[in-house]
Amino acid sequence: MSKYKGKKVLVVGFGVSGVSVAKYMTKQGAKVTVTDTKQKSELTESVAACADLKIEYELGKHNEATFKAAEMIVMSPGVPLNIKALEGVRELGIQITNEIDLAAAALKEPLIAVSGTNGKTTTTTLIGEMFKADARPAYVGGNIGKPLLDYLTDAIRADVVVAELSSFQLELTQKVVPAVAVITNVEPDHLDRYPSYEAYIAAKKRLLQACDKNTYVVLNYDNEITRSFGQDCVGRLMWITKKNPISIGGAFAENFNGCYYVSAEKKIYAKIFGKEETYDVSRIKVYGEHNKENFMAAICAVRAMGVSPQAIQKVIEEFRGIAHRLEFVRKKDGVFFFNDSKATNPQSQLKAIGAFPTNPIILIAGGKDKNFDFTPLADVVRQRCKLLILMGEAKEKMNRALGDFAETYLVGTFEEAVLLAFQKSRNGDIILLSPGCSSFDMFRNYEERGDYFKKLVHQL
Ligand code: ADP
Repeated sequence: MSKYKGKKVLVVGFGVSGVSVAKYMTKQGAKVTVTDTKQKSELTESVAACADLKIEYELGKHNEATFKAAEMIVMSPGVPLNIKALEGVRELGIQITNEIDLAAAALKEPLIAVSGTNGKTTTTTLIGEMFKADARPAYVGGNIGKPLLDYLTDAIRADVVVAELSSFQLELTQKVVPAVAVITNVEPDHLDRYPSYEAYIAAKKRLLQACDKNTYVVLNYDNEITRSFGQDCVGRLMWITKKNPISIGGAFAENFNGCYYVSAEKKIYAKIFGKEETYDVSRIKVYGEHNKENFMAAICAVRAMGVSPQAIQKVIEEFRGIAHRLEFVRKKDGVFFFNDSKATNPQSQLKAIGAFPTNPIILIAGGKDKNFDFTPLADVVRQRCKLLILMGEAKEKMNRALGDFAETYLVGTFEEAVLLAFQKSRNGDIILLSPGCSSFDMFRNYEERGDYFKKLVHQL
């Protein structure tokens, strides 16, 4: 019998994750109530997805009494933990958890958890593809694709479960003990939700704290924060780096486990606990040096789980990237258009600009600011961008930080941005949408923004 049978479970937030929890918990025989500050009319998709389930609804508000009467509260990643209704609830001994933790507690298969500021989706996808290329079924979910809990509700069978985890999903995790944990990098992000950068770093670090001595932990040596995480790692540490470990020297070189990339040779060298391998990345199809980092992280993760080097090499040669991440859209009149709508922080913009070392770049940027400092982009903008087209809520702030370093235009609409970029372009230019901001000022999400950009570009 399920330990949740008859339990009063309150699901807070009724998006994709909330729906997944409601389905799982009703199947387990729990008494489920769902609450969301949105009205029913704004939640039609979720309500329809749960139409057959016996659930109580409290929509349009949170009722504090309902929180206090619950035996378990399951928070959705989109709902901050400082909402008023949660005040005093912990003191009552009510368990507060989330979908990821519920899933991790029930999973029998090894879990590969991927977190970090940038590169999560790409790395998670690569890991899934590498398993697939080795004819080993993998369930890929979490922050991408399907929620983790659906794997259990739908009784899916796979060799491993690969989960992309955002910092919000890590905030409440207690029971996650991954077989492999990857943290791609940590850079400033979501400063609108966290009280400080330190608080955001602490959320990311929770993944590391969840590991035990058997966990393979993959960290980026070239990123200051993840490098420092190495000191607190109790698991089997694997590094990824674009430096030759010999050049770093000392114990790091002697005990090196992981992958390093030698750009001049276009090779990734792997040293995986006694096994040495070389991967040829000369025919890689995705742009940007950052993708070498994503490949290295994926190689470490899957080699730790025994995926064959042949399968890995096949994915290196065949992977065509993911929509909205430096996605090539079109070439028109000698001008190349790229959609990097998923670049929602300055660090990912930096990588996107860096992916095109020679052609002049017309950068379309801006959107909803997450309290970022854009001045770290000044150098690359000066060196690489011939034109800056700024839009959205953040345009004035971006203009103050970057406007002195390239010819800059502030525009009112997305249409204007694309038209102006094209009018100002010359043969060989790259028009790059890499917003460095979230999309919520003008769109529902980054996918909608990227799709709209592509539509406008195809209409030119
Ligand atoms: P996430 O899921 O963490 O948001 P994605 O793989 O979706 O990461 O990539 C989002 C954006 O971040 C891409 O459009 C690209 O500009 C940038 N990016 C991808 N991988 C990396 C990386 N390893 N380091 C820095 N930036 C990256």
